[in-house]
Amino acid sequence: MDRRTLLKALSLSGFVALGSGSVLRQVNLTDKLQKSFGMGALQGQWAATNLQHGMEDILPTQLSEALSVAHQEAAAQAVAAGSTNAETRTRYFESVFDDDYFLPEEKRATMLLAYQRLDRLQSFVGHGNFNLLSFDEALRFARNYPDIGNFTQAEMDFLDELYHIDARLYGFYGDRVLDTLTSKVNKDDVQSVGRTGHYLFKGKSSVFYDRLLSKVGDDLVLTSGVRSMVKQMHLFLAKAEQSAGNMSKASRSLAPPGYSYHAVGDFDVGKVGFGYRNFSDDFAETDVYKRLQDLGFVEIRYTTDNNFGVRYEPWHIQVS
Ligand SMILES: [Zn+2]
Repeated sequence: MDRRTLLKALSLSGFVALGSGSVLRQVNLTDKLQKSFGMGALQGQWAATNLQHGMEDILPTQLSEALSVAHQEAAAQAVAAGSTNAETRTRYFESVFDDDYFLPEEKRATMLLAYQRLDRLQSFVGHGNFNLLSFDEALRFARNYPDIGNFTQAEMDFLDELYHIDARLYGFYGDRVLDTLTSKVNKDDVQSVGRTGHYLFKGKSSVFYDRLLSKVGDDLVLTSGVRSMVKQMHLFLAKAEQSAGNMSKASRSLAPPGYSYHAVGDFDVGKVGFGYRNFSDDFAETDVYKRLQDLGFVEIRYTTDNNFGVRYEPWHIQVS
């Protein structure tokens, strides 16, 4: 792969918009990544992992780490240049800020154990079913199958607290959309979508998706649909683990459990074969995204200037 292609692959959010002074950093980072692994290999690896584990919205760890370094420098420059903290946070979402909220040290081990148990649960039930799994069902599977193992009291307390915490503590200002930890997705209300392993709510969401598909064409794919409380917990904890317990950083990329509009109708779309780049700014450069915008009736939930404290997500379609 030539450098130009590689640079393009790295042009994730905020990364290409740093100005001419940043060229050196991009090249350094590219060299570093090129030495560690080919981007093609990484993309293939991610696609395989994504299919197995349903890790939508989570960048590969190596790429996330590389992006963190780039964002850290860019964020410092932006602040020095007088950009407001809120703008800088959402633009350089992988950066660490002074007032980010970190999970207290004594809870880190419990978070990891809870995350790993959810991970085993997902492998056990399959990632399609996991999208719809309720908290009560999760507890039942864990209790009945030794391969998963019962949640400990400490893990239960941790997950309960994770759900009940006011996400503004993290710097996340979206609305809470689920009102109990045990809320269920009614299986009669959803339908599976092709071979994606994802589901959409019947009615408004599925009608809207079909309409997009017919207007945009077969290049459009559903990359994440209905997500239960448990599914959102797993995704959020994956990002929180990747972020070393920085809950604010996690919440700039993923809504905390209970705050995700995926629970009430929103969905993510991508371009077929575009891999993890469907969850980067690069998606906004695709013909699929451009065709979506040309339709004139497609709303993106998390725009560049959103007030939720969330990164720009050109792939996340607002329905609910
Ligand atoms: Zn989404």
